[in-house]
Amino acid sequence: MTLYSMKMRASREENGLSQHISGAEKILSEAELGDNAAALLSRALHHAKGRADFINLKIEATTPEEIAYIEALPVATVDVANAAEGQQTILKYLSQLGIPNGAAIMRQFSHTYEMRGAMLLDVDTLERLEPDPARGLRATYMDAEHTPARQAGDCKNHFQEAIVLASKVVSAPHIVAEICMSDDPDYVTGYVAAPSIGYVRITRLKAMGCPDGGRIFLYCGPRKEVPACIEYLEKQKVLVRHVPVNPGKAPLTDSWQPLKDDLTMRRSAQLYRTIKTLQTPQRAQVKSDGQDLLMLASNSYLGLSDEPRVKAAAIEAVARYGAGSGGSRLTTGTLPLHNALEAELASFKNANAALLFNTGYMANVGILSALGTPGSIIFSDELNHASIIDGCRLSHARTIVYRHNDMADLEAKIQAAAPTHGLIVSDAVFSMDGDIADLPGILQLAKKYHLLSMVDEAHATGVIGATGHGIVEHFGLPKNPDVLMGTMSKALASEGGFVCGSQLLIDYLRNTARSFIFSTSLAPAPLAAAQAALTILRTEPQRVQRLQENTRTFCAALAENGIQTKASSAIVPIIIGDEGRAMRIAQKLYDCGIFLTAIRYPTVAQDSARLRAAIMATHTTAELQDAAGTIAAAIQSVPIKK
Ligand code: PMP
Repeated sequence: MTLYSMKMRASREENGLSQHISGAEKILSEAELGDNAAALLSRALHHAKGRADFINLKIEATTPEEIAYIEALPVATVDVANAAEGQQTILKYLSQLGIPNGAAIMRQFSHTYEMRGAMLLDVDTLERLEPDPARGLRATYMDAEHTPARQAGDCKNHFQEAIVLASKVVSAPHIVAEICMSDDPDYVTGYVAAPSIGYVRITRLKAMGCPDGGRIFLYCGPRKEVPACIEYLEKQKVLVRHVPVNPGKAPLTDSWQPLKDDLTMRRSAQLYRTIKTLQTPQRAQVKSDGQDLLMLASNSYLGLSDEPRVKAAAIEAVARYGAGSGGSRLTTGTLPLHNALEAELASFKNANAALLFNTGYMANVGILSALGTPGSIIFSDELNHASIIDGCRLSHARTIVYRHNDMADLEAKIQAAAPTHGLIVSDAVFSMDGDIADLPGILQLAKKYHLLSMVDEAHATGVIGATGHGIVEHFGLPKNPDVLMGTMSKALASEGGFVCGSQLLIDYLRNTARSFIFSTSLAPAPLAAAQAALTILRTEPQRVQRLQENTRTFCAALAENGIQTKASSAIVPIIIGDEGRAMRIAQKLYDCGIFLTAIRYPTVAQDSARLRAAIMATHTTAELQDAAGTIAAAIQSVPIKK
């Protein structure tokens, strides 16, 4: 009987580089070929990583005689509390297998990250034995032996594929073990496999967020037999018998267990989040858990959320229009307050029209999912806010991420992608670093390549530009970007998002932005509060100047205390690095009477945890100077390693 080996590799060109999308391989009878080819093509064309633009489907005839039949390795799971324990477990197994140098072998994972294939390592000398170290070895031509129940459309079973691969690898001549760690930053389970121990899943092998990963095949034998080992791994056709379909665990009796495990992992990685409650309005001096604190983390930049005129406006609106709006904007939920605020925002931003959303988050999600039509491309700065990222994810556009504020990289990526239409989107002031987007550069590239331009002014409105009008005023530009998004939740002291632009843009979004259409509109109180705050911002620009002065005062005081920061807006990041240390410093500051939040992965990159100070116009010079001294002392008093 003729059998066929079928291999599919799907990739997509991304920024001039070929990006792997999906791969699979099977050994099939002739009758199974058609359905399986269709299933693999469908996988390549509808993959979560994107649609493949290059699919290699290779089908080669073979015979049963050419196939080696082996048994699947037995599977065991070792549940460990953290990555360190996981690594220790591997070392224990390696030593049980009589393999020396376990720790040195594990260190090799820092080199496997960039490799597509596996590393073949001599266990005694730690020499690399792959003919091409950049490519590594690819163990291929293998499948699970078919069961009658298996169907072509079966979705990819990562677990089964891993067992098939490990079973083949450790049956190769002179391979004594395989160690594997996924390169998915959030998939932390790995395994060690060997004939005598089976396939041992280790639930945590690296910290969450760590991009390292790869495979190491451990070789112990004469050098002259390395080619035979490679030949087996790369050419021998293997069918693996009795491959289990799942890790062999009984169905969970506690359906909440995966969630509990997730939270345990977050706690051990110092990534667990909790909430602190304030008993006072957002102002320079607040009370939290009964303690008096200097607030150095609030986005109420102009101190308007506690402003009597703003509060009075909200109260009056409630008295006049009630508590809730009662419907979405397109049904019963439009009040004169909505229309007036939209007109006011459009005028403040020198735009033709504006549209309100319930939050800034909903604005970004709604705008980007509506503008990102199929076939278009969104170019997005790598440090853009999560709401922009989520908007890109919800859109039907392809998203290309460019290096932070790097116009050369952006242009190279536009040229490589050659979009027919699309959008460049950037935070105006980056929310975790406080630096300002190169808007002149973005506008120039948008014009040159016929793309729309969009900025998120969440931290720019009321903060930058001589009178707080935002990024366009900051750079003195004659023209707005096509889409100016903002929020009323920060300097405007209330809540709600908005977008300003041409009448065409606003008409389009009113008809297509789902977070606008399908949500009950903003209530009277936040609308009136934002309107009053906007009037104050317009008529009292000295508040903006005071905010800008305060930021300079704070940075100068930090510098006097030996802490260098760069601040172009009211956000002053004090980089700490280690997540645990940042948390301990923030707690120490809290105990010393300063409310300053530690920001960690995944909000910022791993190991770049920071204290994110946010300055307000209502801070006094003395408060800021004293705080700088306390911050420096707290940083000094918390050691780098616990
Ligand atoms: N964009 C940026 C840059 C932000 O920092 C935020 C809030 N953190 C938002 C959008 C979301 O705005 P809102 O809080 O009004 O939902």
